[in-house]
Amino acid sequence: MAAVPEQRGRGHGRTARALTRLATLATTTAFAVLGALAVVGVSWPAPPAGAAPLGHAKAHPAASTAAETLSLSSLLALGKGGSIRTAVVDTVTDTVSGTVVRSGRARAYRASFPDGYAPNLTNQLLADKVSVTATAATTGAGGQGASGGEWMIAMLVLFMVAMIGVGSVRRRLGGRGGGPAPRGLRPQSPTNPAGFTKGRGEQAQVPATRFADVAGVDEAVDVFRELVAYLRDPEPFKVAGADLPHGYLLVGPPGTGKTLLARAVAGEAGVPFFAVGASEFVESYVGVGAARVRSLFDRARSVPAAIVFVDELDAIGRSRSAHAVPGNEERESTLNQLLVEMDGFGGSGSIVVLAATNRPDILDAALLRPGRFDRQIAVPAPDRLGRARILGLYLERRSVADDVDVASLSRRTSGFTGADLSNLVNTAALLAVRAGTGVITTAELDEALATVALGPARTSAVVADEDRRITAWHESGHALVGLWLEDADDPITVSIVPRGPAGGVTWFPGHDAPFMTRRQAKAQLAVAMAGRAAEELLLGDDFTQGGAQDFRAATDLARRMVTEYGMGSIGPGYVPPEETHIGVLAERVHDATEELLDEALSTARSLLGPARATIERVVERLLDEETLDTATLVALAAPEAAAVVRRLPLQRQGAA
Ligand code: ADP
Repeated sequence: MAAVPEQRGRGHGRTARALTRLATLATTTAFAVLGALAVVGVSWPAPPAGAAPLGHAKAHPAASTAAETLSLSSLLALGKGGSIRTAVVDTVTDTVSGTVVRSGRARAYRASFPDGYAPNLTNQLLADKVSVTATAATTGAGGQGASGGEWMIAMLVLFMVAMIGVGSVRRRLGGRGGGPAPRGLRPQSPTNPAGFTKGRGEQAQVPATRFADVAGVDEAVDVFRELVAYLRDPEPFKVAGADLPHGYLLVGPPGTGKTLLARAVAGEAGVPFFAVGASEFVESYVGVGAARVRSLFDRARSVPAAIVFVDELDAIGRSRSAHAVPGNEERESTLNQLLVEMDGFGGSGSIVVLAATNRPDILDAALLRPGRFDRQIAVPAPDRLGRARILGLYLERRSVADDVDVASLSRRTSGFTGADLSNLVNTAALLAVRAGTGVITTAELDEALATVALGPARTSAVVADEDRRITAWHESGHALVGLWLEDADDPITVSIVPRGPAGGVTWFPGHDAPFMTRRQAKAQLAVAMAGRAAEELLLGDDFTQGGAQDFRAATDLARRMVTEYGMGSIGPGYVPPEETHIGVLAERVHDATEELLDEALSTARSLLGPARATIERVVERLLDEETLDTATLVALAAPEAAAVVRRLPLQRQGAA
């Protein structure tokens, strides 16, 4: 029965005692059941979905049935991001298992590693502040049953689950009425925030992450330094009557470090970090999302100060008017709960909510009102300097050869996010281990770059000689036109090693500048069409389908030039997508797009046609070496470059 407010004091004392008894009983019963299960050899079940994180859960042999299998690279990336809590490195089975926390939930994981990699892995995990246990004896008990220590842990886990169950019963009995739970039922609040790390378990952990772990987002860090100062010591702010926002919206694409930054704020301020991923609620039953949000804030309220992080806020925070379709009740009730919680902060200012989204434009206006997420902070994909600093951050933790040029690498990785760069360095480190040196050189980074961007090389693919030759012509076409057109970027690499779905690739640096001129756009089109132009030189009109991807990209750009950038023959103005399908305007858009594509193909033909000898030189070298860099291309193309460029009315001067 719910305790009515007037009876709260005594009633709750009784209820609390009864519940404690219930928990004890549940635990005792559970222990007995566990004992029975052990006797009949039943596996330890996975923690129930939605159970609170279990930070200390040691990898349990029987947990393998429910453990998530991670690749080694994901494991290392998660370790770097602070998500791996425990790791048991087993040198007999060459596996590592333990607990990973994602979106505030703990899960068992398992990953395999190459023979002999255990010391490196252990060092890496320790460097990432993971609690690591090395073992060579998981098979001793034959994996049949758990050791005494493991049972202890299992029982502790069950006890925690039972207590969490009691917590939710208690909430239902006590009701919330929008305010915090009555004092007697709240967890003891430690007085010293710095002490949270110890003893409070996963629910109230102060992350070890610091601002020094986040690179290339200085503006955001500057904003948060003030917040950290406030959380550490709010008094001067209060004396001055300065109130800081309760909600900050981190705006940027995935992988730019929003979660990392939020963790760093909590880490720097010495306050616990509570996180939740809003997308988890979208598919769930009505009421689950709201309950999770309530429980998250309840936990945050149980400590003097905390950072609450809501990832992918747009999953629940979409504008209600714009999406008034059935099936949105769960999203709405979750959103409402979030709003209720944020409004309930009062003047204490001790809970600060950080939320991440890539779509602030679609958020419900209610979320952006004063007192809610009234401060937006951009966390964009890093620019060249930012990339160099992120690469520096990850490379300095590893053995790196002297030949590695971070500045050049940062130029070649435009469009990469922090997560991509971390993955790149990690992939290079794995390649270095595979090479037997453990030292990252330019060769490993080049290969890792191609792997991260395009997928691993299909080394086992058997390619017929004739197909290799056609690929080499096609790619040489792209590369040479890129090299010769002044308004196109020089290619970084040209390769005929098959990767992913591609038979070969010519790699250009991405476009870092905020503006693209008309000549640059046209040059991009010509480079895209150059594969076909080169195939025509080799095969006449019996060319292959190898240009399909190029045409798709070129048509997409040409259409945007016509309908959005005002660079086509229909002149300036925006044509909405729906008007490019039917009607007179659609026809004009189509014609103007064709015009640009035809012109691009002509440009490519006029550059390559007279340069047969150069193409053949590049092709032969490619067939021989498979991958060529800019310097080699320039050397191979130089003799004819000047002559080619002189024949080009479009060009101002030679680029080679
Ligand atoms: P987001 O929340 O923006 O999707 P995350 O914070 O989850 O991105 O980033 C994933 C991982 O990528 C991080 O744990 C970190 O290893 C790396 N990373 C991303 N951005 C940065 C950055 N700016 N500096 C350092 N590492 C970064």
